[in-house]
Amino acid sequence: MVENFVKPKISQLCEQCHSRKAQVKRPKNLQKICKECFYDVFETEIHNTIVNNKLFYPGERVAVGASGGKDSTVLAYILKLLNERYNYGIEIVLLSIDEGIIGYRDDSLATVKRNQQQYQLPLEIVSYKELYNWTMDEIVSCAGIRNSCTYCGVFRRQALDRGAAKLEINHVVTGHNADDMAETVLMNLLRGDVARLEKSTTIMTSSAGSPIKRSKPFKYSYQKEIVLYAHYKKLDYFSTECSYAPEAFRGTARELMKNLEAIRPSCIIDIIHSGENLVLKEKKIKQQFRKTSPKKVINNENDKHHDNKHNEIEIRPDGSVSLNKGGFIDGNRCERCGYLSSNKICKACILLEGLEANRAKIRLDNDTSSDGAAKLTRTLEQLSF
Ligand code: SF4
Ligand SMILES: [Zn+2]
Ligand SMILES: [Zn+2]
Repeated sequence: MVENFVKPKISQLCEQCHSRKAQVKRPKNLQKICKECFYDVFETEIHNTIVNNKLFYPGERVAVGASGGKDSTVLAYILKLLNERYNYGIEIVLLSIDEGIIGYRDDSLATVKRNQQQYQLPLEIVSYKELYNWTMDEIVSCAGIRNSCTYCGVFRRQALDRGAAKLEINHVVTGHNADDMAETVLMNLLRGDVARLEKSTTIMTSSAGSPIKRSKPFKYSYQKEIVLYAHYKKLDYFSTECSYAPEAFRGTARELMKNLEAIRPSCIIDIIHSGENLVLKEKKIKQQFRKTSPKKVINNENDKHHDNKHNEIEIRPDGSVSLNKGGFIDGNRCERCGYLSSNKICKACILLEGLEANRAKIRLDNDTSSDGAAKLTRTLEQLSF
């Protein structure tokens, strides 16, 4: 895979320093450069992203969401390097989530443990089993493989937050790269998911009421360059894919991106820039069932939040409506587990309830037929993620 894009003519000089032999064709702009210049531009671009977006402050404790994969391994390595080189003054900790996927996560966690030794960084591992009393393997055997990534995504988000809270850290950095971000923009665009489209290029996200913020220092880093960097630096990372296939639609969007990138490498960064400059129309939100002014239309987000004790209807661009039963306050807590939630019960607790009911049914019937899995699928479809 790496060999595909390391084929500059040996005779050429580096287009950057004009003194050493070119050894790398930069995937981002096809520039032929030497290894040293590649390290330099790759690291400097990430440093510029960090500084321009003021991602860190001196004395901040930062958790790297570490999976053992190429992105998070390179992220941990580079953050440590840049922190020392430019004196960010941050304290870096590795935070790993053990989803409980035999043959995948157990092996990748072994890599993280080696990284911990290699980079001399503290490591905290939080498992789904200890948090939810379910492993992903158990979830898949109970609910089927179809929605595995939906369960996994909801649980991972909470697990990272809880792990960070345990470490008393309020900033988690993740290895999401430019390809991931462009892919997400494309998916949201193709789905007409305007709310997510608006947020899909944000480098730092946080929710009101939650002390945990998340950032993506690799927002402008190409996946191929991350692989190339890890390869040349001989970093120790785990490259096996998860045994549960990613969501079909994401897979197709990824394929589309790869095809576009092959024709025009800059399309990844162009999609991100398009997303960043997108200005969306104000949402049309209509308030209903309000005794004092039953037909009032709420025209903007602020109005929506001020009137959040009441039931609302959101009218989507295609004319369909979404019912938002009152009580939404960004910063609410789940009544069951205390996690940040826009509903009384958080998504994870709703999913867990469905899983527990299904497990009980399976025990009673000793029947693993599709009934329970189909019911859980319906539950998932009713939730808006
Ligand atoms: S591919 Fe899906 S199931 Fe596997 S780790 Fe990723 S989100 Fe979880
Ligand atoms: Zn050079
Ligand atoms: Zn909950």
